[in-house]
Amino acid sequence: MYKSDRDALLLTPGPLTTTLRTKQAMLHDVGSWDTTFNSVTANVCSELLKIAHGEETHVCIPLQGSGTFSVEAAIGTLVPRNGKVLVPDNGAYCARILKILRYLGRESVELSFQENQAVSAQAVAVALDRDPGITHVALVHCETGAGILNPLEEVAEVVKAKGRRLIVDAMSSFGAIEINVKQLSIDGLVAASGKCLEGVPGMGFVIANQSSLESSAGNSHSLALDLYDQWQYMQKAGQWRFTPPTHVVLALQEAIAQFNEEGGALARLQRYTNNCKTLISSMATLGLKPFLEVPSQAPIIVTFHAPESSSYDFRSFYLAVREQGFILYPGKLTQTETFRVGCIGAITSTDIDKAVNAIASTLRSMKVID
Ligand SMILES: *Cc1c(COP(=O)(O)O)cnc(C)c1O
Repeated sequence: MYKSDRDALLLTPGPLTTTLRTKQAMLHDVGSWDTTFNSVTANVCSELLKIAHGEETHVCIPLQGSGTFSVEAAIGTLVPRNGKVLVPDNGAYCARILKILRYLGRESVELSFQENQAVSAQAVAVALDRDPGITHVALVHCETGAGILNPLEEVAEVVKAKGRRLIVDAMSSFGAIEINVKQLSIDGLVAASGKCLEGVPGMGFVIANQSSLESSAGNSHSLALDLYDQWQYMQKAGQWRFTPPTHVVLALQEAIAQFNEEGGALARLQRYTNNCKTLISSMATLGLKPFLEVPSQAPIIVTFHAPESSSYDFRSFYLAVREQGFILYPGKLTQTETFRVGCIGAITSTDIDKAVNAIASTLRSMKVID
């Protein structure tokens, strides 16, 4: 039997499919004390700062670990221990921020929305007026749970007008959707190597307003997650405080070079939007409907209603599609049965077409569709 030795395409929101060039960048062992590696780190940080438009006002602090480590570090470092954080909540990643706040013993206020509804800036304004004790707002830009794009610019405007500070989890949007940290007065923007920048997973980073960071000494409850300390040490030594994920940083540098060659966030957004449109229209021919209405759908990941047929179950569907070389993602909603298909990574609409073909033939052989 013929067996392909290619990796399956990851239609997931990270880890995602990377280019060969990005993978090959990892075929080196470099010392963390070595000047070569230190200049890679410095270069990566300055590129990230440029992408966020924060060169004049912000600094970039990289951190070991998955994206959540950096979210927790940003909150623990930038929010004082007596701070109070408003969290607009429309999905799993917002809920994770609330959980982090409980772990850290920071006060929080939850502002709930439906899982298929974008956050309303107006509602944020009302909540801030109601509670003058709120010091920060923590917003998830693209809520990857359902795939919703939240209105970052409107929320940022409200937060600024009400004299509060803004922390943004832009994990699944940074690199694809333009964010200007200076213009939006964002205190801390959090993202990671293995999402729209198309690097491999293993490090996150926080683009922090420099003066906010300077006044955050002593806020953190954690040594490993203290961004202030990480930043201070890096400034002094030019090195990471603790063992850096050297291969991940090498891959990210190469991924960012390709990001720039492609044409930056605008070009990447165009490719992802193309992937997303192709996906939604091809899946419609199979009778598969997206969970979200078009205006709130981010071109990052699409949640589909599971087929209603009694011969459908996600596990066998997933395994059969995987056999044909495509990795799908389970749903992450609390109320409705769904599955998700990612539009991000080193893939094009041709790959999406092939994936939908595999989905179609699988559903036919499962007798879910004719
Ligand atoms: C991926 C993601 C994270 C981080 O998740 P990890 O599993 O820690 O990498 C955080 N927020 C959002 C919105 C994400 O999409």
